[in-house]
Amino acid sequence: MGKKRIVVIGGGAAGFFASIAAAERDRSLEVMILEHGRQPLAKVLASGGGRCNVTHACFDPKLLAGYYPRGGKELIGPFHRWQPRDTIEWFESRGVPLKAEPDGRVFPVTDQSGSIADCLLKAARDLRVQVRLQDPAIAVERTADGTAWRVFPSSGEPLVCDRVLLAPGGNPSGKAYAIAEKLGHTIEPLVPSLFTFKVPDRALGALAGISLPKALLTVDGTRLRSEGPLLITHWGFSGPAVLALSAWGARELHARDYRFSMRVNWLGGITRERLLPRLQNLRTTAARKTVLNAHPDELPKRLWEYLLQRCAIDTATQWGRLSNRTLETLCSGMTGMEFEVRGKSPFKEEFVTCGGVRLSEVDFRTMESKLHPGLLFAGEFLDIDGITGGFNFQAAWTTGWIASGQGR
Ligand SMILES: Cc1cc2nc3c(=O)[nH]c(=O)nc-3n(C[C@H](O)[C@H](O)[C@H](O)COP(=O)(O)OP(=O)(O)OC[C@H]3O[C@@H](n4cnc5c(N)ncnc54)[C@H](O)[C@@H]3O)c2cc1C
Repeated sequence: MGKKRIVVIGGGAAGFFASIAAAERDRSLEVMILEHGRQPLAKVLASGGGRCNVTHACFDPKLLAGYYPRGGKELIGPFHRWQPRDTIEWFESRGVPLKAEPDGRVFPVTDQSGSIADCLLKAARDLRVQVRLQDPAIAVERTADGTAWRVFPSSGEPLVCDRVLLAPGGNPSGKAYAIAEKLGHTIEPLVPSLFTFKVPDRALGALAGISLPKALLTVDGTRLRSEGPLLITHWGFSGPAVLALSAWGARELHARDYRFSMRVNWLGGITRERLLPRLQNLRTTAARKTVLNAHPDELPKRLWEYLLQRCAIDTATQWGRLSNRTLETLCSGMTGMEFEVRGKSPFKEEFVTCGGVRLSEVDFRTMESKLHPGLLFAGEFLDIDGITGGFNFQAAWTTGWIASGQGR
């Protein structure tokens, strides 16, 4: 075969990052990327609403791992070797300055995902990484003597190589899962993650655009809970609290066919017991004001009106006239209003696949298959996914970097 060669299946974030690192580590290595699509790095370009949320400013491997509903435990070790600080340095040292927003999300200063994609393309070009577009891999097999691999691209002639990296992303309808399965790997069931909730409630939909900085969401009959910013939309609920709940509950909510009862505490973690004295106090201090006009500061007036209606309280009633029982009803509505979720809609900014190659079949020190030496995995193809905030790309950079041979 002459020169050593690695074939990378998938020209996305993980595939490019791994290819660049592999070529950098061993300049004599021949690196070839097979990409199914017409456009390399298509998701990088589409990501973060066109801004590419490239990583998250969380530099503690253990804390960072906590943002991954699947794969967190396995990623702790890899994060000790390649973490957001390394990602930031990597791009900045190649002329792409990055900035962290107050919530920790990291973007290129240009606010253009093209800056990230161009940087990766240039690095790959400089290192003579070969990229074959519109040429998906359709099968992978070991050579008869077991010392090398044969990758079959759709364009024809098989490619013989020493190592194969499977980094075809998390497309559930993609054919790449069959490649891994044929090699004996198990694919954990594929279900969507990072979606928003549909709630058929016209009055709620009329409040579209209202956001709360901190709400607490819980799903009845489960232990699922999520606290964070909540956004009311025309179709129901969105915002970081919902997206995180969709990620942590990806499997459970799928099993319920996305039909479940959810409770919203509009005030975040405030309990009924702490809220009731506040409302009792309001009954005394604002006794002559209508309930509509004197409302807790945290809640926008239109939302407050909705809450009163849901609690069957006439908005013209004076605070002083509210009975203890009504106060308790209001308190329950504010800390645990029930909504019937009836379906999901994809979050247009970012969505990922929960499920993929079973993690126990992969050695995270090298990203090598435990079944076949020389077969490597990286990115969303694995049963790894994070919540929104740059965590999914970070998993792709980290696993890609290690799969390049840097972990050896
Ligand atoms: C709209 C959108 C926005 C997002 N925004 C963000 C964000 O801002 N921050 C963040 O952290 N995450 C974001 N994500 C998630 C993130 O894009 C993915 O987790 C990440 O791209 C995974 O990288 P990957 O290399 O594993 O897969 P991908 O980037 O999906 O790349 C895989 C590549 O493999 C190719 N391929 C598939 N099958 C084959 C085959 N058989 N042969 C050859 N090639 C094949 C595909 O065409 C694709 O180009 C977003 C996702 C979406 C959909």
